Amino acid sequence: MNIDLKKYILDVPNFPIHGIGFKDITPLLNNKDAFKTAINLMIKDFKDKGVTKVAGIDSRGFILSAPAAYALNAGFVPVRKKGKLPRSTYCEKFAYEYDEAHLEIHTDAFSPADKILLIDDVLATGGTAEAAVKLIKKSGAELIGISFLLEISFLKGIDKLDKNLIKTIIRY
Ligand code: 5GP
Repeated sequence: MNIDLKKYILDVPNFPIHGIGFKDITPLLNNKDAFKTAINLMIKDFKDKGVTKVAGIDSRGFILSAPAAYALNAGFVPVRKKGKLPRSTYCEKFAYEYDEAHLEIHTDAFSPADKILLIDDVLATGGTAEAAVKLIKKSGAELIGISFLLEISFLKGIDKLDKNLIKTIIRY
């Protein structure tokens, strides 16, 4: 299906704070063809890579990573904001465009035999994805790819990550 996915991303000025331009992905999620196309494109390059688990970043990353895990016949692991996971966790602090936060995974979420595809909706400054990559490395699992729906290129988040691992569907 040939769909212009950019049509389904809306620019919202001054959200969540003054001076930040926010890319709203909810119109894309709202359209069944755009949603399905986006998931299919996000996983296309990882279908024959032996992915055992898909890790999704809290919270919009969950919406994209759960169907990706299902389609890849892989398990799903939530990479959550601090204080949400009930058992023993690994934790990483990170800074992003307008704040700082912590991400966590359960210490038993991955085994060293796992091959992980990491998914999030947006790559902006890269701090969030960088923290998630550190968590996956702490677990000893192998990171085989990072798939984003959308990249805001001028923020240069890609510089914080291994370019060879990255796949992005929409670029601004
Ligand atoms: P970064 O750490 O790369 O600066 O920011 C990426 C994280 O912040 C992602 O988890 C993403 O959900 C969120 N984020 C930052 N900017 C935007 C945006 O413009 N639109 C959306 N949907 N999410 C954003």
